[in-house]
Amino acid sequence: MTPVSGGTDVKTDDNLQFVPKPIDAVGIRAGDGSNIRIAFGIIQRTTALRAYNTYGNGRDWMEKLSTAYVVALSTRSADTLLMQVIQDDLVANSQNSCSRCKEASIGLSLIRERLFPTLKSLREHANRLVHHLDDPKNKGVSGLNIEGVFSYCHHLFQDNADALFGIIPSPQGKFHYVKCKKCRETSNP
Ligand SMILES: [Zn+2]
Repeated sequence: MTPVSGGTDVKTDDNLQFVPKPIDAVGIRAGDGSNIRIAFGIIQRTTALRAYNTYGNGRDWMEKLSTAYVVALSTRSADTLLMQVIQDDLVANSQNSCSRCKEASIGLSLIRERLFPTLKSLREHANRLVHHLDDPKNKGVSGLNIEGVFSYCHHLFQDNADALFGIIPSPQGKFHYVKCKKCRETSNP
């Protein structure tokens, strides 16, 4: 479905009429023996999915929009958490101590871009919604891709369910040590 744009104060709800695809991946799995394993960001996940699943019952556009906002915020949070876990893993394998070099070499958005390119592009829908609603000057949501926010949520928790249990795409060869400007200037070539 194509989001409707152009209207400012009327027909704000055209882009709110869709049914999110079901997410049936679970956040808890059986581990070794009697152990259970819990997905990264389980609280964010629970919050996101509760909102995701109640979207269809939204009584009016405002309720639907606030539900979409919760989905956007909590999915972004779980996404960030996952990137941080991966980053910590990559840091453990590098001896680099400068935080700017770290940002240049294995920054969170760089990790997302290299390992989860679709997630990165879908995240933009959530970013746009959050920034839009956080600005009091903005009215109407007709230009926003609300369905894209739900695709983002679906992509993280359904398509990347394994990643949330620590099974991540191989970072092999995707990250290179980059020195920040300061370190480049102060160290010998
Ligand atoms: Zn540095």
